Amino acid sequence: MIFENSRSKVIKKLDYYIDNHLSEYSKLRNFDYGPQNRINTSCLSPFITHGVINETEVINKSLKKYSFSKNEKFIQEVLWRTYWKGWLELRPNVWADYLAELLKLRKDFENKTNYLEAIEGKTNIECFNEWVNELKNYNYLHNHTRMWFASIWIFTLNLPWQLGAEFFMQHLYDGDPASNTLGWRWVAGVQTHGKHYLATEWNIKKFTNNRFNKIKLNENALPILSEKTYPVIKKELSNPETFEEKNLLIFDNNLSFEYSDFVNKRFKKIILVENKDRFIKLSEKVLTFKSQLIEDQKQRLMEKSIDCEVININKVKDISEEIFCLYPTVGENLDWINKNNKKNIKFLYRKLDQNSWQYCNKGFFNFKNYIPKIISTFN
Ligand SMILES: Cc1cc2nc3c(=O)[nH]c(=O)nc-3n(C[C@H](O)[C@H](O)[C@H](O)COP(=O)(O)OP(=O)(O)OC[C@H]3O[C@@H](n4cnc5c(N)ncnc54)[C@H](O)[C@@H]3O)c2cc1C
Repeated sequence: MIFENSRSKVIKKLDYYIDNHLSEYSKLRNFDYGPQNRINTSCLSPFITHGVINETEVINKSLKKYSFSKNEKFIQEVLWRTYWKGWLELRPNVWADYLAELLKLRKDFENKTNYLEAIEGKTNIECFNEWVNELKNYNYLHNHTRMWFASIWIFTLNLPWQLGAEFFMQHLYDGDPASNTLGWRWVAGVQTHGKHYLATEWNIKKFTNNRFNKIKLNENALPILSEKTYPVIKKELSNPETFEEKNLLIFDNNLSFEYSDFVNKRFKKIILVENKDRFIKLSEKVLTFKSQLIEDQKQRLMEKSIDCEVININKVKDISEEIFCLYPTVGENLDWINKNNKKNIKFLYRKLDQNSWQYCNKGFFNFKNYIPKIISTFN
């Protein structure tokens, strides 16, 4: 399994997937046939996460091939990501609390044998060990496997979900504060209070095509209890009506300026920001992947004769004039901006986010009702 590092190759991957495998998506998507056989899902998440391609492009292309009803499951999954993003935007304290809890848990667990065995893939659960190695080697896991992994981590190995979410962020090419944190919370039972996800032996056997056997798990664990609730904080997502010509900052979540809503606005210069110094230390492979995607965006801008440069996030401190910025969303880049009190940075919001985050105040089943309406705003 190879994750390409250029937009042109990713577009080919998307087209190939739509032409050859999308028709079987809803039937086969839950099977994990192993890292050498990944044709039943798109494997596009590392690129959607970095904005190398965006959700609108993916959905529009899929709708050119199949009708909405034939394609509904795939579209829903693409928009799960958008939903998780919006959910966290309306409750940013979930992210802040997660980081605070992580800080404490790291100290508590740094020498604990069961934690160290888990992250080294040395537990007595064979499939889990294999997935740890797969995560480190390929920087990707199938969705169902992420659910099993998180469930075993929390309910059989009795480790805190926060440390598992950190481990995923360190190694996943698609590591995303919303999908990852909320995915782990959902498995633990603190996202939908009292409803957890329990991995079972028969389910793993069936959906891995019997690749694993004799899997001894705690199949009766109770959900993790949490008293905390997070009321919705309303968020203003308006863009300026007139654009004076200024510089534009782009972080690693929006790496396709040429296909963004702002491509026809005039900016003096585009500044691509690299952030290597994070609270969650990313593995070298993830950092290299990000650098390559940023470089690919730079090359594409230069081919269009757009003035651009790549800078380290610490250099943003030196920018004192007013500057636009494609909104980086809740996560470490936004934390950096807030921590450094960079009030001169004016965010620009994507139409998709403006049109969909308003429906993220309740559960996904409510959000789903608005999917046709959201899609109708695409063109
Ligand atoms: C514990 C846990 C942690 C996760 N962490 C991340 C993460 O850090 N980053 C991330 O992008 N996804 C995460 N996911 C969601 C999901 O596992 C991946 O998006 C999916 O496996 C990507 O594979 P794919 O591109 O082949 O997906 P496909 O099935 O082909 O789906 C197409 C696209 O839809 C989106 N999508 C699909 N399923 C989900 C989902 N359940 N939640 C949100 N978006 C989805 C992705 O952008 C994906 O590329 C996590 C899920 C769990 C259970």
